[in-house]
Amino acid sequence: MTRWAMVADLRRCVGCQTCTAACKHANATPPGVQWRRVLDIEVGSYPDVQRAFVPMGCQHCDEPACVPVCPTTATRKREDGIVTIDYDRCIGCAYCTVACPYQARFKTPIGEFAYGKQPTENEAQRDDEAKRQVATKCTFCVERIDSGLAQGLKPGVDPEATPACVNSCIAEALAFGDIEDPNSKVSQLLADNEHFRINEELGTGPGFFYLWDKRR
Ligand code: SF4
Ligand code: SF4
Repeated sequence: MTRWAMVADLRRCVGCQTCTAACKHANATPPGVQWRRVLDIEVGSYPDVQRAFVPMGCQHCDEPACVPVCPTTATRKREDGIVTIDYDRCIGCAYCTVACPYQARFKTPIGEFAYGKQPTENEAQRDDEAKRQVATKCTFCVERIDSGLAQGLKPGVDPEATPACVNSCIAEALAFGDIEDPNSKVSQLLADNEHFRINEELGTGPGFFYLWDKRR
């Protein structure tokens, strides 16, 4: 069984936000809606303080807090671990936005674009009325994954089948793939490095792993 997951290497991320911009371009999210964020935080205590950049987005949880609260079954988890939203079923109640412990969800505004009421060329190409006044979040670029698989491509290896943020990362800090496949890049990164998942103690089983040191 496939389990798609993302890995971010905190030693490599330089906080450039190229992944944020790539996500914005690929998904044409409206102002105020940022499916990919990169946190800029301080770690440690003075004088041993380090700056860390932490890419964040939907964690595509094994036990997603957003699913049971959804009154319309718009939010579901696929067998491959991707958590999806059916925009036609979503009524925009935003229960999921409140329930998500990662602040990954955004309710979209009506018809607002980067420069006002008129879309840019990119926004016009990607405009979808079904996505207005509903809950949205990172999808792991599920359309790219599904169309890539249909063409015999490998997500995480072939760029056409890989999330836009991973393709764009200038530092190769992001990786994507199947953690059930021991030969995938993500499985090898997890085997070779110490890692953690955010808010793991809540039992959410996030599908987003953070590397922080070489395994010794
Ligand atoms: S990160 Fe939030 S929105 Fe994403 S699957 Fe987990 S609970 Fe749901
Ligand atoms: S906003 Fe949509 S996805 Fe979220 S709980 Fe309401 S109906 Fe479900």
